[in-house]
Amino acid sequence: MDSRKVGILGGGQLGRMMVEAAHRLNIQTVILDAPGAPAKQINALHEHVNGSFSNAESIRALAKECDVITYEIEHIDTKVLEEIDGQVELQPSWKTVRVIQDKYLQKAHLIEAGADTAESLPVESTAESLADVGNKLGYPYMLKSRTLAYDGRGNYVVKDASAIPGALEALKDRPLYAEKWARFVKELAVMVVRTKDGEVISYPTVETVHEDNICKLVYAPARVPEGIREQARRLAEKAVKSFWGAGIFGVEMFLLEDGSLLINELAPRPHNSGHYTIEACPTSQYEAHIRAITGLPLLQHSTALATPSTNAIMLNLLGPSTLKIAREALSVKGATVHLYGKGEAKPGRKMGHLTVIAGSMSEAEYQIAPLIEMFDKEKT
Ligand code: ATP
Ligand code: MG
Ligand code: MG
Repeated sequence: MDSRKVGILGGGQLGRMMVEAAHRLNIQTVILDAPGAPAKQINALHEHVNGSFSNAESIRALAKECDVITYEIEHIDTKVLEEIDGQVELQPSWKTVRVIQDKYLQKAHLIEAGADTAESLPVESTAESLADVGNKLGYPYMLKSRTLAYDGRGNYVVKDASAIPGALEALKDRPLYAEKWARFVKELAVMVVRTKDGEVISYPTVETVHEDNICKLVYAPARVPEGIREQARRLAEKAVKSFWGAGIFGVEMFLLEDGSLLINELAPRPHNSGHYTIEACPTSQYEAHIRAITGLPLLQHSTALATPSTNAIMLNLLGPSTLKIAREALSVKGATVHLYGKGEAKPGRKMGHLTVIAGSMSEAEYQIAPLIEMFDKEKT
């Protein structure tokens, strides 16, 4: 379909699902990650690059092997990306990755773009500075690492002034900022694809349910009024429009009691909350990403749910219970199982996911209920 080779920084599950989508279009991919990484396992067309997406030499080596580089993760050395820009095409732009990978810079950028976010303040790693923030934002507030955060590792809830020493200990040696507590009633997310021309096309608004800081479930569409779903899409589109380069973005949001929306954070890559698009939409988030970064056409309607009555629920498979639940899901109507080919199933590690599709949300809820029950039981 496209003669250019796509290099992917990171070969975990998101890279693997990008490879699946690229393969169907005969688009070749080269992966940079450790030997045997999930994305490498399903692509034998190439010698891949062994190394780390956080290592400059490895990134330079990947750049020699491909025409366009993209990412499954934002925690990359953007100085190297800036250096190789031009030798190879980078999608989305390294500037986008640089701003997004520092959550505080990301917040400042979103405010500049007119997209509402939780109020954020800079903070020093001292008890005085944290107490000062407590006086300004009130308690509880969320202390966050500016960089290298995922699955809530990098966040600390400062419940009251007495929690300050514990917060400093938990996030020591990390660059910090503080966020006002968002009293949300639900968390929503929207996948938005940005084309090379800067056009944005959004997927339906979904509802995400987190447990222990990790996304557990995604309901598509979100079980909120249509007006709120539309408002969430407009906010997500506005945010994504303000960045640079092509590709898919995941936009996480808080829905507050009064019906207003705040952006929590953005990811410049495919996102866990968009896995459902593989089964529920004509063009998945992974294919949309591949099309966007290679300049192939993408139609507005192809990111909608396949039919007006299509409903989907996604359950992440975490840690040791993965295989048991996956096996059970093989006998559930409308369920598709994805296993990632990862190594050890440590508690909380994302090992796979499943998506249940049905003609109504209540039917999807009914079909997935035993699997969620199993997930909860295996956890305890
Ligand atoms: P991810 O795996 O999504 O990248 P992360 O480590 O970057 O996670 P965040 O998305 O910042 O972490 O936060 C994780 C979860 O913590 C959110 O989904 C939300 O449930 C809660 N949270 C984050 N910020 C706030 C806030 N300001 N107020 C209340 N809850 C919050
Ligand atoms: Mg994050
Ligand atoms: Mg998040």
